[in-house]
Amino acid sequence: MSKVTAIVNQKGGVGKTTTCGNLGISLAREGKKVLLIDADPQGSLTVSMGYPQPDQLETSLATILGKIIQDEEIDLQEGILHHGEDVDILPGNIELSGLEISLVNVMSRERILKQYVDMVKDAYDYILIDCMPSLSTITINVLSCADSVIIPVQAAYLPVKGLEQLIKTIGKVKRHLNTKIEIAGILLTMVDQRTNYAKDIIAMLKEAYGRKIRIFESMIPMSVRAQEASTRGVSIFCYDSKGKVAKAYQMLTKEVLESEERFG
Ligand code: ADP
Ligand code: MG
Repeated sequence: MSKVTAIVNQKGGVGKTTTCGNLGISLAREGKKVLLIDADPQGSLTVSMGYPQPDQLETSLATILGKIIQDEEIDLQEGILHHGEDVDILPGNIELSGLEISLVNVMSRERILKQYVDMVKDAYDYILIDCMPSLSTITINVLSCADSVIIPVQAAYLPVKGLEQLIKTIGKVKRHLNTKIEIAGILLTMVDQRTNYAKDIIAMLKEAYGRKIRIFESMIPMSVRAQEASTRGVSIFCYDSKGKVAKAYQMLTKEVLESEERFG
């Protein structure tokens, strides 16, 4: 059974892309077959997986979605790149922005990505989708095909307002487009253990959402190593395998896999 997980927060710079790449590679290290999809026109996930010029790639997510809209045939391997740490990636680039605009006149425009994901799903245990920092039609497409959502939240901000809008949007998607979508949890990222601020935010999140939404026990610490790894196109497991960020993503992976066993 394959599982589709969206990494979503309409706020930028909260660790979505870093989480998508590292969680994906961590799941691969646990023997899972993983596809990463870059659904951000900025292509940051694609860059962090070692393709520094996503806009130069011939085939990307936009190409595939364009073909689906045109009812053209798709080869299941089309556009898929292979990363040395054993994950597949369907890259994203600026062409997604153009595609987004053209979706306005497309029938069932919220379900284009779902058509693709349904086609490739059986070949993978996990499909992780990295979202752009907005609740755009492309992001709604991601939510429409996701079984679960992980919401990274940077521990340095009071995130309440944006989170409420996001949770509302996920609720709407659940009612209208995708009844099976569930929020897997909120993930605290870039936690600076030297300050009390993170503790305040965690307490606030627990009070506001803890009864309804899981807050992952694992929290990702702030470390320049996380950034360094992605500029080198490798995961934190390759770059700094003994460091605290690697440890944290490993623990998150454990939590993700355990909840899988419990809830299916
Ligand atoms: P998003 O995808 O939500 O915009 P990113 O994953 O790109 O966020 O992270 C934003 C920036 O913060 C990037 O430069 C990234 O390398 C850096 N970053 C991510 N996680 C960490 C971390 N745990 N510690 C320090 N820097 C991080
Ligand atoms: Mg990103």
